[in-house]
Amino acid sequence: MEFYQIIILMIIGAIAIRFTFKFNLNRYLENRRKIKIDQLKNICPHGRIANITNDGKVAFESFFVSPVGTMDYICSQCNVKVGEEQVNRLNERYRNNLDLIYKKQEEFARRVKKLWLA
Ligand SMILES: [Zn+2]
Repeated sequence: MEFYQIIILMIIGAIAIRFTFKFNLNRYLENRRKIKIDQLKNICPHGRIANITNDGKVAFESFFVSPVGTMDYICSQCNVKVGEEQVNRLNERYRNNLDLIYKKQEEFARRVKKLWLA
């Protein structure tokens, strides 16, 4: 094998390695992003604290909406899809635990910001 042939093989090898590395890196980043978005669905409080009464009473306002023609409910903040029973359970849980909504919403906003900037 001539010297120049070895050089050409080395260049081809280097390009192949680089390409594989880049491909794997992109896939890795994409997977990591998906995992983080899935984690967001666990952190989302699926609602907010809304001060909607004139006498200053605090109420819980759910983010769940049911698209026309479906039985499912989708959170307008995190896009999680759940059934009616689970919606009621979640709403009840947060309605009775306003502190948890604050904590979760704060954590949610912090993580979304990180994903946004990444
Ligand atoms: Zn949600």
